[in-house]
Amino acid sequence: RNGFNKETFILSVDVGTTSIRCHIYDKEAQIRGSCITKVVPLYPEVGHVEMDPDALWTGFITVVKGAVQVANIHMSQIEALGISTQRATFTTWDRRTGVPFHNFISWQDQRAADLVKSWNRSCTLKVIHGAMKVVYLVTRQKRSLAASSLFFSTQHVTFRLVWALTHYKQVRQAVAEGNCCFGTIDTWLLFKLTNGRIHATDYSNASATGIFDTYQMCWSGMLCSLVSLPLSILPKVENTGHDFGCTDTSIFGFPIPIMSVMADQQAAMFGECCFDVGDVKITMGTGTFMNINTGSKPHTSVAGLYPLVGWKIGSEVVYLAEGNAADTGTAIKWAQELELFSDVQDTSAMAYSVSDSNGVCFVPSFSGLQAPLNDPKACASFMGLKPSTTKSHLVRAILESVAFRNKQLYELMLRETHIPITKIRVDGGVSSNDFVMQLTCKPVWQESNQTQTP
Ligand code: ADP
Repeated sequence: RNGFNKETFILSVDVGTTSIRCHIYDKEAQIRGSCITKVVPLYPEVGHVEMDPDALWTGFITVVKGAVQVANIHMSQIEALGISTQRATFTTWDRRTGVPFHNFISWQDQRAADLVKSWNRSCTLKVIHGAMKVVYLVTRQKRSLAASSLFFSTQHVTFRLVWALTHYKQVRQAVAEGNCCFGTIDTWLLFKLTNGRIHATDYSNASATGIFDTYQMCWSGMLCSLVSLPLSILPKVENTGHDFGCTDTSIFGFPIPIMSVMADQQAAMFGECCFDVGDVKITMGTGTFMNINTGSKPHTSVAGLYPLVGWKIGSEVVYLAEGNAADTGTAIKWAQELELFSDVQDTSAMAYSVSDSNGVCFVPSFSGLQAPLNDPKACASFMGLKPSTTKSHLVRAILESVAFRNKQLYELMLRETHIPITKIRVDGGVSSNDFVMQLTCKPVWQESNQTQTP
């Protein structure tokens, strides 16, 4: 591409909840340069979790330039850019100027919890559930069965976007004038990188917003009209491996082709070669995300497993089902801030230093409890505290809660999908914790009567 027969590279950027990372890969898939920067979450009010779009953009540019420098290459040697992002964190901006109307509202944000709760209890939803059950009994359409058990969640974009439309006059005005763009992080980065030429996302990111119909593979007109979301602000949905065009030359001094955007959990499945039906991975980062490959059909859940598009490449669509626990790394980071320990690397040894948690249980629900409990208002708590409770007991209880949620999600997945699980891949920062990993393996492998060590 550069015309000089120079070695070329792939640039990959992951915008996570705690950090933005960039790796430069050569043709042997070896990392030739990396750069990482922290993401600083903002907590403007109790329950609100935001990110500054300008800080995120600066962070993105910094890691790309930093990795290129470490690899000691020229921007013209970058053959393709791929971006994976945390999902369902969104902002809205002015289509003409690209200026955001508000900070990113994070997937962890709880501002819509009351709204979600009242909708989940509403008569309208009960009537819809009843009608969908009847449709299912008559037509046996799985989509109707899914709709008959649909509950809203704060983790999805839906009601946080409803909240933004209600509370930000500027957004409403821009919608009325046809100048409002909605986007998750990938969409906003695409818009910025192409200088406003592209307003798009991919199927994996769209399917994680809660406003996408995975059965029809399009934005859900029915849901949008039910909760009054304007379809006009939503981006075009493209294939995961779509050629999104080049970055504007002014940004890196050279146009770089953007060849893929993908949601982080789906990207982890792809990266770990979970290509076959029944392949499972657990990511333990800020939250826990357990995904199973369900093949060419979306999974229909009645207990809160969410059907997602894994990826769409060419005409092939691969679907996943997902169960998650929102507070994994969050709980560990919180304990660190309380000075229960100074380095996360010490937590495993602390947990092993005591024979049990001394009867202490930790409920990891700073952002509610997800499937199979589905309670957005569940409180985080320590139970069973005694005068003899030590920091090690508390740390052990927190780490145990991570493994217990893994077990709960694993059991739910087996119960719901009936797909035998033979192997689980793991990734994410918390997967480097020996204690969590050993405890996670134990119940899973004991109960499935396997004797080998995973
Ligand atoms: P994300 O992609 O969501 O930003 P990561 O996969 O980078 O998250 O994981 C970061 C989280 O992992 C942090 O909350 C950090 O505290 C936690 N973490 C990293 N190493 C360990 C460890 N050895 N034990 C427990 N937690 C860890």
